[in-house]
Amino acid sequence: MIGFSPTEEQDALRSLAHDFAEKEIRPVAAHHDQTGEFPWPVIRAAHAVGIMNTHIPEKWGGLGLGCLEASMIAEELAWGCTGIGTALEANGLALEPVIAGGSDSILERYVAPMTAEPRMAAYAVTEPGAGSDVAGMRTTATRKGDRYLLNGAKMWITNAGVADWYFVVAYTDRDAKYKGMTAFVVEKGWKGVEVGKKEWNLGQRASDTRGITFTDVEVPEENVIGKVGGGWLLAMGAFDHTRPLVSSAAVGLARAAFEHARQYATERKSMGTAIAGHQAISFLIADMAKDIEAARLLVRQAAWMKDSGQRNTMYASMAKCFAADTAHRVATDAVQVFGGYGYSSEYPVEKLLRDSKIFQIYEGTSQIQRLIIAKELFERAR
Ligand SMILES: Cc1cc2nc3c(=O)[nH]c(=O)nc-3n(C[C@H](O)[C@H](O)[C@H](O)COP(=O)(O)OP(=O)(O)OC[C@H]3O[C@@H](n4cnc5c(N)ncnc54)[C@H](O)[C@@H]3O)c2cc1C
Repeated sequence: MIGFSPTEEQDALRSLAHDFAEKEIRPVAAHHDQTGEFPWPVIRAAHAVGIMNTHIPEKWGGLGLGCLEASMIAEELAWGCTGIGTALEANGLALEPVIAGGSDSILERYVAPMTAEPRMAAYAVTEPGAGSDVAGMRTTATRKGDRYLLNGAKMWITNAGVADWYFVVAYTDRDAKYKGMTAFVVEKGWKGVEVGKKEWNLGQRASDTRGITFTDVEVPEENVIGKVGGGWLLAMGAFDHTRPLVSSAAVGLARAAFEHARQYATERKSMGTAIAGHQAISFLIADMAKDIEAARLLVRQAAWMKDSGQRNTMYASMAKCFAADTAHRVATDAVQVFGGYGYSSEYPVEKLLRDSKIFQIYEGTSQIQRLIIAKELFERAR
């Protein structure tokens, strides 16, 4: 039998995250959108109630929760505001490969402290000239005695301005292509690390995105994560866990847009009736509800597969692609339901439309998700 009811524990977590989003996130969402200020007060409060970094294993002081529970929390936080949600959740992308490949001493030094107090980390893979084409990266780490000299530049790194450390991938052997990439933990205060200015993005402005430059940064060999040459697998493998979470955030945004649109459609009158009485509008809203349910089911399946030890790469990409496209379409249609008011920043759906676009870009664009799905269908299936 297949069950769709959450357990009592899952339901309690979901409602804790929902109450948090309602009381701590929604009231300050517009402020952080307008100022771009990093939401430290929200981060501190989220850490205090225990809804950050929930998958850090118990051995390192965390809750050791699964991807499914984390996806329920992510949806609620994003329902509050996806800019703040991304700020709260981006640690997960840096933590995942370090938890998967780091030695005990690395986990003790970098992961455990994140459970004790609100600290941030960042995942630094994208470069100015290489995003989708990860193998096109130019950053190198050259062995010198018991250290590596790191040189290069990363771009669009979420949390870069607030993180204590970065998960960085660089070439240790360019000729070996994917097998020549190695992962490191690099501390923000090390000589030669320079963090750029905050990017002023279309949406999700509470989230901090910057470039980072590395000039002859000395990285001790104990800060290699996993095997030398194993960086690609660690960096890409992290997405099996994090794509269901990003997808959940897209579902949370879509749900918020849908709720605003449904409410407005019952209040706004046109040609003698509430606009919900016009089939053109009620069908738009029916499609929103249908697609949100479908996206959530894909997300939950991808998360459940991850937790039950199954290979979920294709399902994580399906969830990410479908949820991202749904979020952007639902937000666009919500603006349509609001008419002229939808275009104004005085009303909530304008921000949701701006915030929704990035879901089709970060953690792999919607085109790249389709590429992964097609590869899985045609290459792995053979
Ligand atoms: C706000 C924000 C936050 C981000 N956070 C992080 C982060 O924390 N860490 C990190 O490492 N990166 C981060 N990124 C980077 C993000 O993952 C990349 O922007 C994304 O992967 C796309 O890479 P690109 O921007 O270089 O675009 P490109 O790879 O240049 O792509 C341009 C266009 O071409 C398409 N395209 C490219 N190759 C193909 C192909 N083979 N087939 C079909 N279409 C293709 C793409 O889909 C896209 O539409 C972030 C980006 C943004 C904007």
